[in-house]
Amino acid sequence: MSAQLIDGKVVAESVYEDVKRRITQLADRGVTPGLAAVLVGEDPASATYVRSKAKMCKKLGLYSDVITLPVDTTHDELVHLVHELNKNPKIHGILVQSPLPPHIDEPAITLEIDPRKDVDGFHPHNVGLMLIGKPGLLPCTPYGIIKMLEYYKLDPAGKEVVVVGRSNIVGKPIAGMLVQKADMANATVTIAHSRTKDLREVTLRGDILIAAIGRAGIIAADMVKQGAIVIDVGINRIDDPNAKKGYRIVGDVDFEACSAVASHITPVPGGVGRMTIAMLMSNTVDAAEQIAS
Ligand code: NAP
Repeated sequence: MSAQLIDGKVVAESVYEDVKRRITQLADRGVTPGLAAVLVGEDPASATYVRSKAKMCKKLGLYSDVITLPVDTTHDELVHLVHELNKNPKIHGILVQSPLPPHIDEPAITLEIDPRKDVDGFHPHNVGLMLIGKPGLLPCTPYGIIKMLEYYKLDPAGKEVVVVGRSNIVGKPIAGMLVQKADMANATVTIAHSRTKDLREVTLRGDILIAAIGRAGIIAADMVKQGAIVIDVGINRIDDPNAKKGYRIVGDVDFEACSAVASHITPVPGGVGRMTIAMLMSNTVDAAEQIAS
């Protein structure tokens, strides 16, 4: 391996230091930032995510409320709960864990969240602010990627960035953030997806290559430009009879092979995933600061 590791644990720690400092400042004003996490149904992965978010809140001294609802909760019942949380002064951040059961209209639920409490940064109000370069709550995973680049002094200005994936939670927002006329942005951005004709030809252009696909190891070494910065967002479970759980988690990037070509690379696990939760905590503190001001 020749690439330098971009260590999500280290960067997340630096975010937590800042978060703790701001929590202390808020405490002096009698404010404890509060995060409500809503879980509908019993999807085990979602339950694990929500638990780890609540655990981190506790560790940092944030107030956390985990609300678990049965899988047959109606759309209107969930809307009612969101409205209650919008009014609750102890809650500064509302997170409705995805995926929701199919009978619930997920984008419609997002619209019901008070944009000031939209710590996922998915509300069109916040998406719009981000796109026009105004302050608002930023989506956690893309925001975490920016923080990683910033920590390792990897300024994207003037660089060719290729984002593979165009989801509303990762691909589109990271592209939108990197194209801004702003610090840690000013990049020339290309978005690729499943209909891209020659993916390799596109990815080879990337001085920074961001993979947000959801296909284990799809980014091979011959798709990476020599010396590129490779950011792997993918979280994929693959069978591994040697692993204790019978599976292991890998990214979208063939880590070993791409490490020989890239200048910097994020691992999976221990990379972008660490940042997502850190930025959720940071956004909750941001929201509390804004609401309390
Ligand atoms: P998604 O909504 O499924 O989007 C995947 C994107 O990849 C789509 O735009 C799709 O293209 C594109 N794609 C699929 N197959 C492709 C192929 N063969 N070639 C080129 N493009 C292809 O996924 P997501 O929510 O963005 O998540 C992506 C991955 O990141 C998943 O593994 C997810 O678990 C992970 N993730 C990690 C974090 C974290 O904290 N680290 C956070 C969020 C997501 P089309 O649009 O044409 O279908």
